[in-house]
Amino acid sequence: MINRREMNIVGLIGTGMVGASFAYALMQRGTANELVLIDADAARAEGEVMDLNHGLPFVQPMRIIAGGYADLTDADVIVICAGIGQRPGQTRLELLKTNAGIFRQIIPQITAVNQDAIIVIATNPVDILTYISAQIVGLNQARVLGSGTVLDTARLRYLLSQHYGIDSRSVHAYIVGENGDSELALWSLANIAGVRLPDFVGANGQGYDQAALHQIFDHTCNAAYEIIKRKKATYYAIGLGLLAIVEAIIRDTHTVMTVSSPLSGEYGVDGLAISMPAIVGRSGVEEVLDLPLSEAELKAFQASAQTLKERLSEL
Ligand code: NAD
Repeated sequence: MINRREMNIVGLIGTGMVGASFAYALMQRGTANELVLIDADAARAEGEVMDLNHGLPFVQPMRIIAGGYADLTDADVIVICAGIGQRPGQTRLELLKTNAGIFRQIIPQITAVNQDAIIVIATNPVDILTYISAQIVGLNQARVLGSGTVLDTARLRYLLSQHYGIDSRSVHAYIVGENGDSELALWSLANIAGVRLPDFVGANGQGYDQAALHQIFDHTCNAAYEIIKRKKATYYAIGLGLLAIVEAIIRDTHTVMTVSSPLSGEYGVDGLAISMPAIVGRSGVEEVLDLPLSEAELKAFQASAQTLKERLSEL
């Protein structure tokens, strides 16, 4: 029996579609020894726990329980997916007020029992909720990060992989800024096998095509709306994105990810949380990378930050 201190314990607050998808992905990877599910709708958390536990004979052993905040005392990572989901036609920023209220209840309950866990936020608007949460946590703000544009970056890499006929894991391209309408692609740094896109020819003979890349960016930005229109919510890909973040933390992998974190002067931005490629490891966000953006990208990033600042001031 391993000592409780040596166990990898993950807490999950909000066991709706996104939370449950993350839990399902996590149990299959064998990354955690224990997973604690919490939801305002206790029956929903219990139902998910029953369903997940019945799959344990098919995966590596772990403990999955429904609980309360007192069960998070020894958690290493706490993932928050609680809140109201995005409705058809609704922008992510319209969710702000309701979900901010929910977070002002949740975060103090976490810090009352655990001051060390890394807090990973998925609820939208993720940048604003990450910033509010970091403010509540106070010192040690690197403990708080948001899934930010991790999912949109994955969408961009997938669509580029389809265009060039290359495995998406070999495509290096980032979506940064607000997780929302003002986000941007860092095209000047995008590459496959170290070759910038204007010079790359894919396995399918596909070369540089600016119109196609514009369309790929549009499809990346509109993906959430398109999926919500068809199936009311998005959850599998973000569930896997959250798994990747939690693994980077638990395994201390120093993985570069476009998570959202509070900035203090990087790229001329401070007083808000926003996504830029950052190194993620056991202590959360270890460093926001200082990348050589083009002048236009830097301007667009700062404009995206300004949009978030205006939303924050609306609160
Ligand atoms: P959902 O409605 O299925 O689940 C939300 C859950 O939160 C519900 O089970 C609800 O009971 C619970 N909840 C509400 N208030 C709570 C509280 N105070 N304490 C504990 N639990 C509480 O929604 P969903 O589809 O799972 O989406 C969850 C969030 O994730 C939404 O804000 C959505 O916009 C966001 N999301 C983010 C991304 C991203 O890229 N960051 C992608 C998809 C969805």
